[in-house]
Amino acid sequence: RVDTDEVIANIARNILAALNEPFVFIQKRMLVSSSIGIAICPDDGADMAQLLARADAAMYDTKKNGRNGYRQYVPGLAMYSSEHMVIEMELRNAIDNDELRLFYQPQINLDSGQVIGVEALIRWRHPARGFLSPAQFIEIAEQSGLIIPIGGWVLREACRQIRKWIDAGLPPLRMAVNVSALQFHQEDFVSLVQRAIEEHQIDPRLIELELTESIVMHNADAVLDTLKKLKEIGVLLVIDDFGTGFSSLSYLRRFPIDQLKIDQSFVRAIEKTPVNESIVRAIIALGQSLSLKIVAEGTETEAELAILKACQCNEAQGYYFLRPSPADDFVAWLIAHQQMTQTIGDTQACMF
Ligand code: C2E
Ligand code: MG
Ligand code: MG
Repeated sequence: RVDTDEVIANIARNILAALNEPFVFIQKRMLVSSSIGIAICPDDGADMAQLLARADAAMYDTKKNGRNGYRQYVPGLAMYSSEHMVIEMELRNAIDNDELRLFYQPQINLDSGQVIGVEALIRWRHPARGFLSPAQFIEIAEQSGLIIPIGGWVLREACRQIRKWIDAGLPPLRMAVNVSALQFHQEDFVSLVQRAIEEHQIDPRLIELELTESIVMHNADAVLDTLKKLKEIGVLLVIDDFGTGFSSLSYLRRFPIDQLKIDQSFVRAIEKTPVNESIVRAIIALGQSLSLKIVAEGTETEAELAILKACQCNEAQGYYFLRPSPADDFVAWLIAHQQMTQTIGDTQACMF
């Protein structure tokens, strides 16, 4: 029985300290951090389910506030947790219930105006709430580990779609797939990628893995090893949201990266925001000197596109061309776009 907040805090601190002890695992020094949520019976709940739900709420609150700490449940956290727990529970069945979908958004080569790639973006067709965007569930998928089966599904589905389009006679399009940090660090990630490609018999150069700066900055030796193995398979590697993560650029020298994707915050209103244009020009110059292709995401307007072209950005993606769309809508747009670019030819005025 615990009586006072001080006793409870002491127990939590002791557990944190014990879990924080470094240990050696396969000849590597490991450090684990933990987050503790506390709920007290009977104040915070009289039954197991309610106590667990509230302890969970407190734990997620700890994580939100920087992890490696503890927090006691306070009224007001419950909504967040029960909503969170419901989503997590429903998400567990989303794959089996066939509720996940990939939407597709084109990437356009700014020299030719041709569509050369497509990014796969996940959506959850929730039985009651309609289509949910990643912002509504990806974080929960990451916290719960569900991102691992979901990420595996995304890779296989992306490969299946490429095969289907090729079989239907469409020109082969490069497919960009977003990879979460947790998924990337799984021991079998490389073989997962390889299996998905082999199973659908597609050219590995049609798969482009979008990684974030935080993935590549973490534990550099292990990351380099994984990246090299992925390059041996033949897939392309892109840094997503480039410019928003850690500032060390030395990884660009060491890592076999093919492309940088300029974050959409730098593209926004670039025609009237000189500092955005300066940043975009700097990223493009960096890319050119390191022989990396540059794609700009979040291109919404003709004015933004015009500046990107003037800056000699290689490729662009954004609502200006097409919002992420279901496969059939994407193909209908693609065919119309191809006809339009053929008709107009390479007239200078054409904004694709
Ligand atoms: P991201 O990979 O940086 O994707 C770009 C996001 O910008 C997408 O949001 C896309 O719909 C949106 N977008 C595209 N063009 C425009 C534009 O012109 N204007 C504006 N305002 N937004 C634009 P979405 O689909 O909601 O995805 C959000 C994030 O969720 C993605 O950011 C990615 O980090 C993550 N995500 C999406 N699909 C997956 C997935 O299959 N696996 C994992 N691990 N993460 C995913
Ligand atoms: Mg992306
Ligand atoms: Mg991005």
